[in-house]
Amino acid sequence: MAVIVQKYGGTSVGNPERIKNVARRVLATQQKGNKVVVVVSAMSGETDSLIKLAKEVHPEPNEREMDVLLATGEQTTIALLAMALHALGAKAVSLTGAQAGIVTDGIHTKARIANVTPKRIHELLDEGNIVIVAGFQGTTPEGHITTLGRGGSDLSAVAIAAAVKADVCQIYTDVDGVYTADPRIVPNASKLEEISYDEMLELAALGSKVMQARSVEFAKKFSVVFEVRSSFNNNPGTTVKEETSKMEDVVIRGVAVDKNQAKVTIAGVPDKPGIAAKIFKAIADANINIDVIVQNVSEKGFTDISFTVAANEAAKSAKVLQPIVKEIGAREARSTPDIAKLSVVGIGMRSHPGIAAKIFEMLAANGINIDMISTSEIKISVIIGLKDADKATRAIHDAFGLARS
Ligand code: ADP
Ligand code: ASP
Ligand code: MG
Repeated sequence: MAVIVQKYGGTSVGNPERIKNVARRVLATQQKGNKVVVVVSAMSGETDSLIKLAKEVHPEPNEREMDVLLATGEQTTIALLAMALHALGAKAVSLTGAQAGIVTDGIHTKARIANVTPKRIHELLDEGNIVIVAGFQGTTPEGHITTLGRGGSDLSAVAIAAAVKADVCQIYTDVDGVYTADPRIVPNASKLEEISYDEMLELAALGSKVMQARSVEFAKKFSVVFEVRSSFNNNPGTTVKEETSKMEDVVIRGVAVDKNQAKVTIAGVPDKPGIAAKIFKAIADANINIDVIVQNVSEKGFTDISFTVAANEAAKSAKVLQPIVKEIGAREARSTPDIAKLSVVGIGMRSHPGIAAKIFEMLAANGINIDMISTSEIKISVIIGLKDADKATRAIHDAFGLARS
């Protein structure tokens, strides 16, 4: 008997009809002779509504309480899906993250999974149940509810697949698979048959929200091969796995754009050793992830340091930096919204020069100014104005011949 883990995202469980659709698909999978574990997200829009609700009560809600609140979104769906399965005559039991044995650290709102003990899942499967697990949540060893960061149900699914040694891990969403760019921005994007963990990780980390980046990192670490496919049809999806030599023939796998970015600049920083360390230690201590960093050439002993963060962490960053600005004698810390990060990703880039030049030329031809640049072995990112983001994404996608033929 194969063990199959299926994850259904928010849109796929967005209303009662869709929950019933998922129930039928899940039951059909079990009836083919498989043991099925289903991980579900909150109904689409629910997590956002809960965040909004919290902010109406407190402008900066306590993160522990935020997790207690957000976990209710997924708790609603697991119960509803269990009921929908019961209506079809199936045996099904819902489990919260804690009940499913998902233990995390205590970094509320973006906890890391420490371990998964799937004893209960196995017992329930052995009794013939379809086991439904709430995505996006876990518990600390002390019993505090935690959540795994936005899009975290993907991580729940991959972690459970690793823990139960699943034969198949399927991520069902509202698109047919992973495309060369977000099909909502680039309508002629092509669906990929397969993609390496590293490329998927870069695309996800750089803004392709089809998969949560941390879930891909986890999948790579524990060699969980997974497939991204649609819950609305039976089309083959995209397989995400270790790279093969054939994959290197493709220079550019895809284009990602992240419109939820902000730039933080600390102006008038004295140019002497130890200053950058102080700034970035304060940011790291506040658990804020930073991305592109640029330090200007210093003038008369002073310089500007800029870095990008997720837009929702810009205010927190500025707050954390206030005492540091005073301490190091800098002029000010300010954040700039309305920026976007456009990135081009491909493992073939390692062996093909000239990619950066082509990107810069295309942007210039479209009159788009580049604010910051960052590169790694398999990606090139540029920070541009938010208003130019979609246009630039389409232009770069076309320039690299990624459009569907
Ligand atoms: P779910 O709720 O199922 O987790 P998400 O909304 O998190 O779904 O992710 C699916 C969305 O990701 C798609 O609707 C699509 O707009 C977006 N997306 C961004 N980049 C890509 C890409 N390269 N390929 C496919 N979808 C992408
Ligand atoms: N409901 C959570 C979110 O909206 C987790 C998920 O959907 O994966 O971020
Ligand atoms: Mg998602």
